[in-house]
Amino acid sequence: MVLNLPRFEVALVRGEGARVWDAEGNEYLDLFAGFGAPVLGHCHPDLVKAVTEQANKLWHVGNLFHTEPQTRVAQAIARHGFEGRSFFSHSGADANEAAIKLARLYGYLHKGPAGQRYKVISTTRSFHGRSFATMGATGNPKVREGFGPLPPGFANVVYNDLDAVKAEIDDITVAVIAEPVQGEGGIHLPDPDYFTKLRALCDEHDLLLIADEVWTGCGRTGKYFGYQHWLSDGFHGPDIMTLGKGVGGGLAVGVMCASDRVAELYNARTQGGVKHATTLGGNCLAMAVSAAIFEIMARDGLVERAAQLGDRITKRLRNFAANCPSIKDVRGKGLFIGIELDPSAKDASFKSATEVVNQCLAQRLLVGSAQGDVVRLAPALTIEDEQVDRGLALLEQIIRG
Ligand code: PLP
Repeated sequence: MVLNLPRFEVALVRGEGARVWDAEGNEYLDLFAGFGAPVLGHCHPDLVKAVTEQANKLWHVGNLFHTEPQTRVAQAIARHGFEGRSFFSHSGADANEAAIKLARLYGYLHKGPAGQRYKVISTTRSFHGRSFATMGATGNPKVREGFGPLPPGFANVVYNDLDAVKAEIDDITVAVIAEPVQGEGGIHLPDPDYFTKLRALCDEHDLLLIADEVWTGCGRTGKYFGYQHWLSDGFHGPDIMTLGKGVGGGLAVGVMCASDRVAELYNARTQGGVKHATTLGGNCLAMAVSAAIFEIMARDGLVERAAQLGDRITKRLRNFAANCPSIKDVRGKGLFIGIELDPSAKDASFKSATEVVNQCLAQRLLVGSAQGDVVRLAPALTIEDEQVDRGLALLEQIIRG
């Protein structure tokens, strides 16, 4: 195998809820749920049932046909607040790729004084994927290093700084892409009115607003979609929203959702042919799981639970941080939480986020990290209170040293 990621020396063979087991039979408590993908935990019995039933019915027929599971997912996304249409793919990166292509098509059809508009403004510390266009949008230069030349038409401005966006808008700009809460960049929240003001700027300049919800979508932050935290009289939602990770529950699903007006530009019947497609996107197995995820979340009140449990975890960690000099900040929304460590703290027991992750693993606790020495928690929405308390006690002990 290509060693593109630094793998731990552990082979996992089985999972159940917030627990996984390695090949030697050791049990681990999972507070990072597979980078956010198994949002309902490992092997949720209702998802196992949904995928098994679908496996006995139909797997894939190609997207020239209607299939019921796709319709159920598209309806769920609309029902939970995003009014528009869904396009199904396989990953966060290719959902964003579909969004960026759609924005470019919009700029091609709605030209500016200088002709076609194609520039997409993104933010520092953002992560949008590792395909060519999404590397261009990603705010971390390390992701791009060695892969140039990239497609032109991307500009990167400081997150949460509206003047920076304003200064970057010119005749060729067509869209702004931002995460409702930045994930890979280290769990950063915008000011509560950032998206309202971004929306106003976009409307003023006829730009599309793209919310990258690959991490924040599907209940993770205590709302179905992260942008819903920032709704106001002036902000009813983005033009385009992208989903990944949790929307597949651990299967390969990406979704690009667009308002009817914008989605129309991908309409093969009215736009003179196919503008975007992918063979396996929306396959029945993945969609059956995705549809069930939305149904289970609503049935079991898991989005509300993510909000409440997230508040409890954040409060507890803030109390702990008050007496722990090596913690600089605790930030989060729902079950998407970052603990920023402070390398400058005069604390002999200081460990970097990577060291914390490794020591946790040695104690059979799975946590993540993010840019800027941040320890990241993103447990399954189904995690039990007792598991959370046990995991946090161990994490605190490790950070304290
Ligand atoms: N967008 C965001 C906000 C992400 O955090 C990620 C991955 O972490 C992506 C896009 C890319 O998703 P994927 O790894 O599924 O391609």
